[in-house]
Amino acid sequence: MQFRNFKMVDYVVYGRGAFNQVDEIIAPHRKGDFPMIFFLDHFFEGKPLASRVPLRGKDKIIFVDVTYEPKTIQVDALAAELKATFGEVSGIIGIGGGSTLDLAKAVALMMKNPGSSADYQGWDLVQQAGVYKVGIPTLSGTGAEVSRTTVLTGPTRKLGMNSDFTPFDQIVLDPELTKDAPAYQRFYTGMDCYIHCIESLEGTFLNEFSKSYGEKALELCRKVFVEKNTWDDECDDQLMMASYAGGMSIAYSQVGVAHAVSYGLSYLLGTKHGIGNCIVMNHLEEYYPAGVKEFKHMVAKNNIDIPVDICANLSEAQFDAMINVSLGMKPLWENALGPNWESIMTREKLRALYNKL
Ligand code: NAD
Ligand code: ZN
Repeated sequence: MQFRNFKMVDYVVYGRGAFNQVDEIIAPHRKGDFPMIFFLDHFFEGKPLASRVPLRGKDKIIFVDVTYEPKTIQVDALAAELKATFGEVSGIIGIGGGSTLDLAKAVALMMKNPGSSADYQGWDLVQQAGVYKVGIPTLSGTGAEVSRTTVLTGPTRKLGMNSDFTPFDQIVLDPELTKDAPAYQRFYTGMDCYIHCIESLEGTFLNEFSKSYGEKALELCRKVFVEKNTWDDECDDQLMMASYAGGMSIAYSQVGVAHAVSYGLSYLLGTKHGIGNCIVMNHLEEYYPAGVKEFKHMVAKNNIDIPVDICANLSEAQFDAMINVSLGMKPLWENALGPNWESIMTREKLRALYNKL
């Protein structure tokens, strides 16, 4: 048995208003007069948070467009622009949802690795540490703040740059930053965390490490989406820790059926991660009966609409493309269904599942 020896985030600060410490935290990481580059989710353009970014010297804010999930061409363009403008940078600080955090991680790596980010989609292909990178989430749920991946859509696949160089050097968990998120967005991203917990806790890769974090994250998701009747500061505090713990849980296990199927939707239709997972979870009674029952209860309680019939007009070739992407996620299927997963999740069975979505 070979146990995974995984790299974690180096420094974590948690607390309401922790954002005010960013200036002090990053100061020792400044290299001469090379700038710190702040990637700010475009949602914050013109918002008060933008004026709180502690700019010094040649530091720059880049408002990143996250209308679509990050692409390798977007990462390459951002890295090329920074190299052309500044030569080198001291660091990259991503402030936003999972998409912005992933862009920050990927561009920080591409400041020091040659070629295209598409060359590094896979496992342990990145050879050099990137520049200093900091993640500051403004949505809670993806676990991107703690993970060793950055999910990118490339020319031929949707796959992360999974490596020991990928985790952030520092994360700043300030629940105040999530308070203005619209209820539906908070729900979809929050459900990503809930689904991480179910997939991890029901998976065959589970060990006590993942279980401990997964149970805590699940308990926190229930507090905010089941027990509470109105959203308050405590919900933001709790969901931020749920996201962290959910991410730690899957670090030592894996996600499962909802993610494997949702990857196919996102590759073909561009369906975003959180909502895609919800669309799939809605139909997974066979695999996660208790989790799906509770999921449906949370959907109803929080007055959320989950899209249906999104695969209604697809061609056979399109179904094939989704099935290929999904079945390519081997570790996810193995975690969900065990070593004989291929005899359980046949192409026909998966075709029937996509048909229901
Ligand atoms: P997101 O980052 O895609 O953002 C969704 C929307 O919310 C955007 O329109 C954004 O502008 C807006 N937004 C962000 N913060 C806001 C705030 N405080 N108030 C109002 N609006 C705000 O959403 P997400 O669900 O956090 O992230 C999904 C992305 O994360 C996907 O690209 C997915 O691939 C990635 N992901 C990565 C990992 C990982 O381990 N690296 C894990 C899961 C998901
Ligand atoms: Zn996820």
